[in-house]
Amino acid sequence: MLILTRGDVERLLSMPACIALMAETLSARARGETVQPLRTILRVPGGAGLLGSMPAYIASPPALGVKVIAVFAGNHAAGLDSHQGGVLSIDPATGALDALLEAGAVTAIRTAAVSGVATDRLALPDADDVAILGAGVQGATHLDAIHAVRPIRRLRIWNRTPGRAVALAERALLRYGLTAEVAATAEAAARGATIICTLTQAREPILKGDWLAPGAHVNAVGSSTPDARELDTAAVRRAALFVDARESALAEAGDILIPIAEGVIGPDHVRAEVGDVLIGRHPGRQSAGEITLFKSLGLGIEDVAAARFVVAEARRAGVGQEVSLF
Ligand code: NDP
Repeated sequence: MLILTRGDVERLLSMPACIALMAETLSARARGETVQPLRTILRVPGGAGLLGSMPAYIASPPALGVKVIAVFAGNHAAGLDSHQGGVLSIDPATGALDALLEAGAVTAIRTAAVSGVATDRLALPDADDVAILGAGVQGATHLDAIHAVRPIRRLRIWNRTPGRAVALAERALLRYGLTAEVAATAEAAARGATIICTLTQAREPILKGDWLAPGAHVNAVGSSTPDARELDTAAVRRAALFVDARESALAEAGDILIPIAEGVIGPDHVRAEVGDVLIGRHPGRQSAGEITLFKSLGLGIEDVAAARFVVAEARRAGVGQEVSLF
């Protein structure tokens, strides 16, 4: 079994390659070529964190595996990332364990890559005014993903703790030569932006419908539990809503479930899965003035596809450590 560390995954899974891979994976889902039960979530008593289990299968090229991911929001105080875990890649022919990958890096890169796919398909072709709300792990990889699919003319970053927004602005300058504005409020970052990414663990809305410009595209990535949300009801009601998977969205996304419970929208407010847009089953954006919203929950097939790719690259390059469990 091959063991791959965070550094191995980061070296082998580039953002452009992962964006192409996620487009293939979501298309395979739309064609019915994947199997993926809804993830199971164990809430650790006392509220310190949760443990999610995400098994998935992809028919071609074949891939089988499971991500086990712990989310402990208070980890930063101990100098640890909030997301910890592993992706187990399993031989689809025999069930034998093939590889174990550090899951934080897989999650950080594949989630942003999926937002990159959604942005590429749904944002206006000339969208170049970008707002990043939340400058944690996902803030950094979303900068890479949006940069990969659209030229960024203006970049605004907001974070609850301003120091992390400053650090991400420094990264934008170093990596891409972009001079970012650190916004004092989420509103100051989001007003007039044409691409907005919400990437926080907020439980109450940080993005309001009133602030959204006509034609804006929003990637709503954080707060993926039924009782928490990043967007207010008006933002969701105003937008053409796309998701990664309908059953996840209607089981897990407070951004959608809370407006449904309020009676403001119904489940049919979900226009389509992004995979349906990718394979041409749904047209996606329907006018230049339409606000598009991609609600991301994160899917096991994304982890398993990323793991299959990284393991193949690692074996080709002789990266990682082989161990025998027997
Ligand atoms: P990090 O722990 O690295 O960052 C968390 C971010 O949330 C920080 O910017 C933090 O601000 C902010 N935050 C926490 N509480 C609040 C609040 N009450 N109001 C405003 N901001 C807040 O997490 P990640 O970047 O790894 O993940 C970000 C979000 O994305 C999480 O909700 C996570 O569950 C979700 N996620 C979704 C995935 C998907 O596939 N859809 C996959 C992975 C993550 P501060 O710096 O001030 O603490």
